[in-house]
Amino acid sequence: MSGSIFGHMESSLRGYLSDLSDQARDDGDVAAAQLARAELPRVVAALGALLDEHRPDSDGRCPTCRTRLFTRAPSPCRAYLTAHLCLLINDDSPVDEPADSTLDYVDSYREYLAG
Ligand SMILES: [Zn+2]
Repeated sequence: MSGSIFGHMESSLRGYLSDLSDQARDDGDVAAAQLARAELPRVVAALGALLDEHRPDSDGRCPTCRTRLFTRAPSPCRAYLTAHLCLLINDDSPVDEPADSTLDYVDSYREYLAG
């Protein structure tokens, strides 16, 4: 797939995001703040544009994620679920969570996404 246009776009985007993460983690505080001011609004706008394409319908289902014409769209939408888990669920919750906690779900979902 890397020879296709999609493969090239995927590689470029992953490289951009990887560079952002590396710079935010490795550069000094001033450089990290400058990076955040310059790039964070762009990343937020990109995520917002993606989520706009997955806006739920009046039944709370995502028409973009529907795979067949006469089937119900999944709920919750995978794009929203992924964004929610990645951005709003953190790993800093108390250790004494029950075994079926949200963290276990997040971990299993992340493994699922990683393939
Ligand atoms: Zn969706």
